[in-house]
Amino acid sequence: MLQALEDVMGKNGLNAILNLAHLPHLIDNYPTGNLAKEFDFADVSAINLSLEEMYGQRGGRGLALRAGRATFADALRNFGALAGAGDLAFKVLPLHVKMRIGLPAMAKIFSQVSDQKTTVEEHQDEFIYTIHRCPVCWGRSDADKPVCFIAVGLLQEGLKWLSGGNEFRVNESRCIGMGDEVCEFIIQKTPIS
Ligand SMILES: [Zn+2]
Repeated sequence: MLQALEDVMGKNGLNAILNLAHLPHLIDNYPTGNLAKEFDFADVSAINLSLEEMYGQRGGRGLALRAGRATFADALRNFGALAGAGDLAFKVLPLHVKMRIGLPAMAKIFSQVSDQKTTVEEHQDEFIYTIHRCPVCWGRSDADKPVCFIAVGLLQEGLKWLSGGNEFRVNESRCIGMGDEVCEFIIQKTPIS
């Protein structure tokens, strides 16, 4: 995520965010790329909050969406069960089957390698992707709108990868950062493009 933010904002931009988030020790000193659970959710949340503080709700949202997308493209695409989405046998499946397989695979990766517990439910026209412990809004409860746009960007790029190039509407309908019990993302089954 830090690398993705750097790619999106430039090094100076990210350094300013890390300073604002009271995380100057991370400047030029990103954690090693292993699966050790050593990066505090509170720090993820502080970085997200600093994006809003420095660029405003709208500007911060745009950067967070792009960083979430870049995080998927750089880090998650070839990870575990998701890597199979590049196989020919997966590519020829109908779109709704790809989503039915791919979204729980994505949720499972987060539940397994991090403390982010995630579940997926299928409904008639949509999937409900629920984060029960969310790093993006960790420790917050008084936001007036949903704030987990890094997660939205991750899902959008993940769906693009799974589907072989489609864009989907992903809407955060509940957010722990607003005082809700979970962070909930509604994913329309029909792509927008
Ligand atoms: Zn959240």
